[in-house]
Parts: sequence; C-alpha cells; structure tokens
Amino acid sequence: MNKPFNPETLEGQYYNALYALIEKKSPKIASSVIDELNNQRSSLKLIASENYSSLSVQAAMGTLLTDKYAEGFPYHRFYAGCENVDLIEEEASLKAAKLFGADYAFVQPHSGSDANLCAYHAILHKTVELPFLEKCGVKSIDALSPEQWKELRIKLQSGRLLALDYYSGGHLTHGYKHNVSGKMFEVSFYSVDKNTMLLDYEAIRKQALEIKPLILLAGYSAYPRKINFRKMREIADECSAVLMVDMAHFAGLVAGKVFEGDYDPVKWADVVTSTTHKTLRGPRGGLVLCKESFKDSVNKACPLMMGGPLAQVMAAKAIAFEEALSDSFVEYAHQIVKNTSFLAESLMKEGVTVVTGGTDNHLLLVDVSPMGLTGRIAESALREAHLMMNRNALPFDKNGPWYTSGLRMGTAALTTLGMKEKEMAEIAHIIVNVLENTKPNNDSSSASGKSRSKYTLDPKAKENAIAKVKELLDKFKLYPELG
Ligand SMILES: *Cc1c(COP(=O)(O)O)cnc(C)c1O
Repeated sequence: MNKPFNPETLEGQYYNALYALIEKKSPKIASSVIDELNNQRSSLKLIASENYSSLSVQAAMGTLLTDKYAEGFPYHRFYAGCENVDLIEEEASLKAAKLFGADYAFVQPHSGSDANLCAYHAILHKTVELPFLEKCGVKSIDALSPEQWKELRIKLQSGRLLALDYYSGGHLTHGYKHNVSGKMFEVSFYSVDKNTMLLDYEAIRKQALEIKPLILLAGYSAYPRKINFRKMREIADECSAVLMVDMAHFAGLVAGKVFEGDYDPVKWADVVTSTTHKTLRGPRGGLVLCKESFKDSVNKACPLMMGGPLAQVMAAKAIAFEEALSDSFVEYAHQIVKNTSFLAESLMKEGVTVVTGGTDNHLLLVDVSPMGLTGRIAESALREAHLMMNRNALPFDKNGPWYTSGLRMGTAALTTLGMKEKEMAEIAHIIVNVLENTKPNNDSSSASGKSRSKYTLDPKAKENAIAKVKELLDKFKLYPELG
C-alpha cells in the first residue's frame, strides 16, 4: 500500500489511512489531496482570506457525523435521534459565545455568505415580520389574509441597507446588485474618503441620517484599518438602524483580543456575522453572534433560509473555538498584526505605495500602478515566482474590478507557520524584486500602449525569487508532522 505520509507520527498515520481509503474509491481525488499539499508547500501564502487549520480541526470534519440530519436548533429539532448533534452544536455555540463575549452564537451557517443571509433574514424577521404580525393581531404568517401577506412581502423587500461599497473593501454579500442581498434590500453604499482612503464617520453619519437604513452594515474584505464600532453604534442609534457587523476577515483578531473596546464589534453590534476559516483558523464555515433579543429570530434560520446543518463542521468549529480560547492564540493574533505592519513598513522602505500608509490588521493593500503594472500582472508575476496573493480593486480604481491597480496581502497563514518580522522583511524584498523585474508587454490596442494582462518577468529574477521562497518554506514547513 502506498504510504505517502510519515508512518512514525499519529498525524502521518491518520493521513495515510485517509489517503488509502480515498484512493480505494478514487485515485484521482486522492492524488489531488497530495497535489494540494505540495502546492501549498511550494508557495508563500499571502492570500488574506486563507489560513492553515489544525489537523484536529480537519479530523473532526472527516467523520460519520456527516450522515445525520438535524434541522432546527439544539433540543428543538425537526428530526429524530439528534441527541449527539445537540451536544455538539451546544458545545460549539457555548464556546463561540464565550470566546467573543456574545449573548448567543449560532454555529450552523455553512459559510460567511450563508451567515449574512441568515443575519439579514433574522433582522427582517425581528424588525418587520414580527411587528407586522402583532399589528394584524395574528401569531403566524399563515393566519394573514392574502392582502396582508402581499403588504408584508412589500415591507420585507423595501428595507434599506447601508454598507461599505465594493471598491472601498466591501463584500459582494453586502448589497451588490447581482447578489441576493442586492435584491432583498434597497441598497446604498458609503465609501472611504477620496484623499485619505479611510472611513469618514462624519460622512457616514450624514448619509445614514438621510437614508435612515433598516440595517447599517460595517465590515470588509479589503480595508487595512480597524473600525471604530462605538462610533458606528452611535450612528445606528441616531437613525434607529440595526447595527450589523461582518467580521469574516478579522474574527481572529477579535478572538485574539487585538480589537478591544471601541474596536470590538461584538460589544457594539446587534448582530455580528463571520466566517470561521480566515483569521479565526477553523474549518470552512460561518457564524452568527447576536444580542439576546435577536436569538429567537436567528434560530429561525431553518426554515427561513437553510435546511440541515453540517454536524461534522460544527464539531470542527467547537475545536477551533477551543484553540482560539488559548493564550497561544492571543499571541498568534498579535503576531499577525505585528507581521503585517512590518511587511507594510518594509515595502514602503523599498519605495512601494501602501494604501493608507500602513495597516492595523492582518491585511495590506499595495498600489502597483506607480510601478507601471496592473494588479492582474503583478498577481500573475508573483504567482510565477511562488508567491500567492490576490489582485484587488483599490478605492476609485481606474483599472476596474478585473485588471485592478492593487494587490491584497495578508499574513495570517504565514504567521501560522511561525514566521516573524525578520521573514517579513525578506518577503518584502522578494516581492519588490519580482515587481521591479516585471514589465508589461506593448499593446498598441490599449490606451496606454501597454498590455494590462501580458507581461515579461525577467527569468533570473524569477529563479532567484523561487530559490528564496523555497529556503523560507523549508525552514517553516507546513504540517511538518505529515513528513
Ligand atoms: C469571505 C467573506 C464572506 C464570505 O465568506 P464565504 O465563506 O466565502 O461565503 C463574507 N463577508 C466578508 C466580509 C468576507 O470577507
């Protein structure tokens, strides 16, 4: 039997067994698992939304728990025989509530997008549906007359959502027109300030007072600074909005006590959504935290917008929350921020433009247009040189969302590998060297005379970068227990 992993360690034995069981049915899928490990081991992962979960988290997902249906919530299920899933979900929920200091944690959403959909429906349920039923003097929507039902449907769809726009770092699930959130609500966006590229709370306040949104939404996928949630709370209160925060990207920094006081979303928001797989370093999944008053509405996720939860992933979430409750996770979260700041400083020292002049969190944005490049070219050239990161539209980007002028880099994954400031300085140097040796090809059909996607990377520079990346990754091996 093929044993690709170290048979001397528990982790290696586990992966060998897993590999053999998969290979028996599909050699193709089995070899993809190995290929993915090799892929992840051969590139520096600077993708801001990714991380490396622990092997305990991974093990919890690969069990018979996947076979169980458990629609409903703990001790209130539409299925029989859910005793064990009840315990698992309750454990994950209590751990998450403890970790974040939340009144209630709902751990069923399959992803961050799911968590947002769940939160939107819960907010509509609590703020529109329940008051409407009360006004009509009935207990359930089934008791509404056809006319009343029509009126309720119109009310449910005319709620206003005010969220950060995509170019300023917002997410597609925050009201983008081709996302269901853009169809559920009347959406308005706030942007970062044109000069500082920072959130301008006074401008948001003015806009919110004018729009009077049902939901004021804070949170981002690509904003390099912390948000003052106390100020967002004050704005929400002034216009009687529900304050919702999507901390998908920075949940690990909240759990790790980097964002405290005014910067702790759980303290100030009515409803907080998250992924569990980005800085939080758990399984791929979602999470909704809320104040007690929203609990019943959040628990209506099934039937509002979901069916059965994934018991095996809730089990893995419980393990990830336990890990995040440790002192070493607090240290990890603080090191992420130190590493990102240091990476930003190092890049700026070498003449690179970092948007907002730095970072407070796990990510930074680089403007590559002063180097004569597009984000797309920079992303591809760096990928060739074994550095993995995403191109990203910058605020007011002239190059649009496809080519872009930016790169988004994050250090959560590299910090998991144990890298520190010294390695960040080295990585900055590798990045700059690759970008300086990348030239867009001529293209007479483009306005600038330069291609926005085709380029030439100097072969020596590439070779050099690959060798340096390898040296770093040999020193900081991913999952060394696997051999
Ligand atoms: C990543 C992200 C999501 C979506 O998470 P998925 O698990 O990919 O669905 C939602 N909101 C924000 C702000 C994100 O960054």
